[in-house]
Amino acid sequence: MLNTLTSASSPVADELIANAAYIGTPGKGILAADESTGTIGKRLSSINVENVEENRRALRELLFCTPGALQYISGVILFEETLYQKTASGKPFVEVLKEGGALPGIKVDLGTIELAGTNGETTTQGHDDLGKRCKKYYDAGARFAKWRAVLKIGPNEPSQLSIDANANGLARYAIICQENGLVPIVEPEILSDGSHDIAKCADITERVLAACYKALNDQHVLLEGTLLKPNMVTPGADSAKVKPEVIAEHTVRALQRTVPPAVPAIVFLSGGQSEEEATCNLNAMNKLNGKKPWSLTFSFGRALQQSTLKAWAGKTENIENARAAFLARCKANSEATLGTYKGDAAGGAGVSESLHVKDYKY
Ligand code: 13P
Repeated sequence: MLNTLTSASSPVADELIANAAYIGTPGKGILAADESTGTIGKRLSSINVENVEENRRALRELLFCTPGALQYISGVILFEETLYQKTASGKPFVEVLKEGGALPGIKVDLGTIELAGTNGETTTQGHDDLGKRCKKYYDAGARFAKWRAVLKIGPNEPSQLSIDANANGLARYAIICQENGLVPIVEPEILSDGSHDIAKCADITERVLAACYKALNDQHVLLEGTLLKPNMVTPGADSAKVKPEVIAEHTVRALQRTVPPAVPAIVFLSGGQSEEEATCNLNAMNKLNGKKPWSLTFSFGRALQQSTLKAWAGKTENIENARAAFLARCKANSEATLGTYKGDAAGGAGVSESLHVKDYKY
């Protein structure tokens, strides 16, 4: 039987295609604010703020309600709790985002578990009731979803087993999302942990992405209604750094070799880079000449929030400074999607601080 999404135009397919294209609009990108309760707890404890619902809500309100920020943001990924929260004055966050032109998105994976038969590699959980959850989230206003698969580079890793299991898991998730009207963000994150060089990361990234697109095609996913969220191709976190131009060249080449032009946009994760590094690397990719049939934008978590979090420190009197820090990062990343970032946000407090966390869990 032919798949109805890929074989004929339908209202569901048209909506998926329009929303994916909108999220990939050059000049805009995604704010990943979907940290699970455990992960946001680590962020809050770094500024001595207690991990309770009201503080999580307050941080998200600070981000979403920064005047002028949403002009640079086409989508915000939320954790389930946040999808149903409101501002202090009672306006649902979903409404705040929609009015500001940012589509609400939702993290739908349930985290990773060890993949039996491997040396500590993982697979991502959450398929069992995924269709039901996607329908509920669509009804609550979500229009796209995220699922994070995690791979690592080691002497024998990633194993073929983990590449295949994660590619199939992502494709399964993607088609279930699309059947329920949500644009799936396909995120096969290759961690930067290790002392490998950039060539090794490029090689592994190509193998992983090739497997993902094989699985997405095999499972009849409508590629025009998806987004890819990959790591940038960089040397390992324990290796010497290279210039943004080198990262840009390696990353764009790996993508040219593996990502079909049917995919409208590639929205990078920041993966432990400092705020400024992530912005400069994205800018260098957009400055690079060559074939780029997709837009190259951002879906940053740490690299959009860290200096804001530090500036806020949980205190009402710091909100204005925190908003200024967030606006500066949003604007800088917007410029980076156009290749026009001049480095003028490089002076902000903490923006060059490494955000790498070993074996990062989201
Ligand atoms: P970082 O940008 O902090 O890597 O996180 C983005 C994300 O959404 C990971 O799933």
